[in-house]
Amino acid sequence: MPAPAPHLSEIVEAVSIRYNNLVYEMKARGEDVIVLSLGEAFFDIPLFGFDDLPMPDGYHYSHSRGTLGLRRRLAAYYGARYGVPVNPETEVVVTAGSKIAIHMSLMAILTPGDEVLVLEPAWVSYTEQVKLCHGVPVMVPHDRSVFALGEFITARTRAIIVNNPNNPSGKCLSVEELEHLHHLADTNDLFLLADEAYSEFVLHGDFVSCGALDLEKKHTIVCNSMSKNHGMSGWRLGYVIARRGVIDEVLKINQHLVTCPPTILQHYLERHFDQILEITSPQIADVVRRRGELAAFMDTCGMEYLPGDSTFYFFVSIARSGLTSEAFCTRLLEEHRVSTVPGIGYGASCDRFIRVSVGTESMERTREGILRVNRLIEETAANPASSTATALAE
Ligand code: PMP
Repeated sequence: MPAPAPHLSEIVEAVSIRYNNLVYEMKARGEDVIVLSLGEAFFDIPLFGFDDLPMPDGYHYSHSRGTLGLRRRLAAYYGARYGVPVNPETEVVVTAGSKIAIHMSLMAILTPGDEVLVLEPAWVSYTEQVKLCHGVPVMVPHDRSVFALGEFITARTRAIIVNNPNNPSGKCLSVEELEHLHHLADTNDLFLLADEAYSEFVLHGDFVSCGALDLEKKHTIVCNSMSKNHGMSGWRLGYVIARRGVIDEVLKINQHLVTCPPTILQHYLERHFDQILEITSPQIADVVRRRGELAAFMDTCGMEYLPGDSTFYFFVSIARSGLTSEAFCTRLLEEHRVSTVPGIGYGASCDRFIRVSVGTESMERTREGILRVNRLIEETAANPASSTATALAE
């Protein structure tokens, strides 16, 4: 019997998706779970009509770069909002979500054996996508500063992946950190692959796009998405911005793998892009403000988390617990009915953390969920085996 490709045995499941699938199953059984594992914030967005969208065009493939109208919107958005000039004809491809945008960008730049620096805590798919491209992810532990990255660069290093702001810590990179990354890219001839999927989830407009410090796009590839900023993850719309030579390669890959994202959804978004952002913007501000309140709440509980004030995530320390992050999250879900994501999915240096996402539950339920996290940390601090009895007695 022929076997699947051996390198796939090294690819692990997306741990966040695994836990969310468990939650869907528990909810389907009618169980009440406090969901702190979902990678999105829920917004109130009206459904605008489809009736006035161009038909029958909407039934058919679009240009494989994406519809020109949507590309123009995206170019205007990155230009006006983040100071990154984008040529809609040549410097952007609309993709079926940003996950595939990141993967196609990696395919476009990596030769087998190339090393890619991945900063922990690292979103769960970077390492696996690098491996799928036959590249070598070089993991940078979470306690190493951006200014120490030079130590990890070798003759095989080809790219650095930058997730700004970061899922799961909520850290937003400072201009000094971004400048240092560009300096490393310049001096070592590297690409900076900037995943900016949470660019709107930053307080006081403090976000600086990686692309704003490399206006010629010499080495910067920016990926972004409608999933988080527009609250439309189910529509699977994302995009890549890069210089023409890189975009041309991404385009070829897109033509062979996807063709284009759903045309009618591109038309819809082209028409309602600004309107939806106007609707989500105050809701995003509210989520980030609530995150601040929850940070203060965790402080009063004596809980610790990695520094960061953006997004709707916390990377909460479970260092006092005797459990691994997987054991902790499994127990938290089964015994305390709270879903979170094990830190180990974000890199080997992260097994003393869990990701807590505060974008989907009410404040009351989120606080209750956080209290249960804290309780399990306390219960498992002295004697990891004791919590079952405590949970059953509740
Ligand atoms: N980057 C980061 C950091 C993410 O958290 C996610 C989704 N959780 C993605 C990219 C991919 O998002 P999408 O494919 O929905 O655009």
